[in-house]
Amino acid sequence: MKIDLHTHSNHSDGSLTPAELITAAAHAGIDVLALTDHDSVAGIEDATHSARAHALQAPHTLTIVPGVEISAAWRSQGIHVLGLWIDPASAQLNAQLKSQAQRRHVRMRSLCARLTEMGLPGATLLATVEAHPGLPTRAHLAAAMVAAGHVKDNEAAFVKYLGRGKTAALANQWPALAEVVSWITGAGGVASLAHPLRYKLSAGARRQLITDFQIAGGLGVEVVTGGHAAAQIDTCAQLAMQFGLAGSVGSDFHHPHVSWNPLGRLAKLPIGVTPIWQKFL
Ligand code: AMP
Ligand code: MN
Ligand code: MN
Ligand code: MN
Repeated sequence: MKIDLHTHSNHSDGSLTPAELITAAAHAGIDVLALTDHDSVAGIEDATHSARAHALQAPHTLTIVPGVEISAAWRSQGIHVLGLWIDPASAQLNAQLKSQAQRRHVRMRSLCARLTEMGLPGATLLATVEAHPGLPTRAHLAAAMVAAGHVKDNEAAFVKYLGRGKTAALANQWPALAEVVSWITGAGGVASLAHPLRYKLSAGARRQLITDFQIAGGLGVEVVTGGHAAAQIDTCAQLAMQFGLAGSVGSDFHHPHVSWNPLGRLAKLPIGVTPIWQKFL
């Protein structure tokens, strides 16, 4: 069974609509797909409808897991928490996501103001980013900077302007990790710590992060993520087993033209790690 529990649509920084994402997932032979937009559940209804429509035409059924990837802060580090099998209609969760959206718009304004101070046309960049229908992310800002010729590619935008230690060290504006986990569990979901190796933390600090996440009610950790090599998967698997956390698997798919991170080409969850989907599928 092909399972991908971490993908984005154009409701955040992905380039496909939910319907296009479902078509791509079906072509890739995926059986179970979680849509996990940054701080938004707005695409889930469309994704679920598209999957149903698809099932009427093809023998292959595609199960949609309602999900979200929520931004949180832990010791001034920005952390992403996946909420899987959440109730997307939860009034409480939707209220919290509304404030997250507000934080994103405010944050984008301050980011662009900082860029103006650094000599870039911040107001123009802000207008470009805010013209996008989904929630504004640093990925949109990087794309706008590339399009306007201020940097040669996304990576350069992050290295020079948007990464840690640059303008975008604004992580502590996000709500605390424990609070974000409680939103997810409050909406009936399971919290999985997204891409644990992507945070710039020492091994000891990472273990403390996982400890705090688990105390807050986190049940899983993302063991297989797009672009990970075997050694990184192994490190994450060890963490999951040592902490008694379940493992999740997800591509973190954003764009169809990114050849190194296609939908549906994911490593298997290592033996010994409890699949996070065990009691759901
Ligand atoms: P935000 O949630 O607004 O902080 O934006 C984070 C998003 O930007 C991530 O989900 C990635 O899609 C993208 N991103 C983060 N770091 C990088 C990087 N170094 N290079 C390219 N894209 C990145
Ligand atoms: Mn993203
Ligand atoms: Mn992420
Ligand atoms: Mn993601």
